Amino acid sequence: MNSPQGSMRENGSWTPASWRLREAQQQPCYDDRAQLENVARRIGKLPPLVTSGEIQELKRALADAQEGRRFLLHGGDCAESFGDCDADTIVNRLKVLFQMSLILGHGLKQPVIRVGRFAGQYAKPRSSDRETVGGETLPSFRGDIVNAAAFDAAARRPDPERMFQAYAFSALTLNFTRALFEGGFGDLRHPEYWQLDWIDQSPRAIEYRREVEEIANSWRFLHTLGGQVGTERVSAGFYTSHEALLLPFEEAVTRRVPHRRGWFNLSTHLPWIGMRTSDIDGAHIEYFRGLQNPVAMKVGPSTRPADLLRLIEVLNPHEEPGRMTLITRMGCKHIAEALPPLLAAVRRAGRHVLWVVDPMHGNTETTPTGIKTRHFDNIRSELEAAFQIHGAEGTRLGGVHLEMTGEDVTECLGGARSLQEQDLSRAYKTTVDPRLNYEQAMELAMLITKVARA
Ligand code: PEP
Ligand code: MN
Repeated sequence: MNSPQGSMRENGSWTPASWRLREAQQQPCYDDRAQLENVARRIGKLPPLVTSGEIQELKRALADAQEGRRFLLHGGDCAESFGDCDADTIVNRLKVLFQMSLILGHGLKQPVIRVGRFAGQYAKPRSSDRETVGGETLPSFRGDIVNAAAFDAAARRPDPERMFQAYAFSALTLNFTRALFEGGFGDLRHPEYWQLDWIDQSPRAIEYRREVEEIANSWRFLHTLGGQVGTERVSAGFYTSHEALLLPFEEAVTRRVPHRRGWFNLSTHLPWIGMRTSDIDGAHIEYFRGLQNPVAMKVGPSTRPADLLRLIEVLNPHEEPGRMTLITRMGCKHIAEALPPLLAAVRRAGRHVLWVVDPMHGNTETTPTGIKTRHFDNIRSELEAAFQIHGAEGTRLGGVHLEMTGEDVTECLGGARSLQEQDLSRAYKTTVDPRLNYEQAMELAMLITKVARA
């Protein structure tokens, strides 16, 4: 802590570029730095994607969730891809998030804050800088904002121009999302149009059918009141979120908003800090500490309580309501010993945070044939354990963080249809982590309402 950087942090000289004085993990190695700076300058001149007003509105909603008055549904792709920026994919993704939010809102009797991992979720941390296939070694795929997934030298070369494309694809995604919401989102709201065949495969079929019928009844009731009430309750739409990993990009989209006297990342409402970049002395923490956006941070089984408290102190020194969300991703095998000490430390220190569970990232496994997957039962087990542990500690679990898609993919095992290993190859599409498909995601929403009320 006596390092020169340490003293710089203490004297508070933050700028959108002050992260450059620190060590930045998980950055690609660009061979043309001048081109990188040129692209960043061009992005810096473009209009923002979101407004500081929307960001403040989300922060207030998250503050409410900290107090137990709302629930956060944070979900979407592990990695968006430029190739998936099409109408059907976007509609299906919004549909599943939206329908899950109605299930959760109805089941928990609380407004649900919908935050998508989209319109900018293009950068990925990797466990290794390089990947070897058949004797050839190339840079790892770091998400479409950096390079392309195909295993050839040209595709894997980090290309700064991709940052510009990522900004444009984010704008296209967000533009269509806003248009769908302003247009009322058509029939997607009506439970009559949901795809629910999977329910009959579930041992809880009767319970789930009853739940959907109740949601449909409330919906019809709201409509008989003139539509106004119903419209109002859903018009808040979606907020966006991505892992703010690629720092030259994030710096370029960080703007000062004079009337709010502060700096905002105006490419997204809720940027988050991943597991691999939360070193207290690292560049990412330096970048985040100066933003006015609400901040989410992943917390894993290796996070020590004292370190977590120091991170909260750096990121939220003034205890601003709604500022700090902690997303725990322990794995179903570790949560029982790893989570309670962290909850206790934060509670004893009198810190206000929004606790969210990510039951995906600690439960990734590889099948004997080398396919990355997650088992629905392990995801469910971590979720259930998280609710129980928070209950026992007297803290509140106020949200979930999920990787899912509106498509009928086969990437995670299990669920009502009991997907087996041999089913994975049928529609395995993700370029990084396995996602819940539409049915598995809807089933999980039903389960969450059960365990949260238990
Ligand atoms: C992710 O959310 O896709 C991710 C990489 O998570 P984590 O930082 O928790 O590993
Ligand atoms: Mn992931």
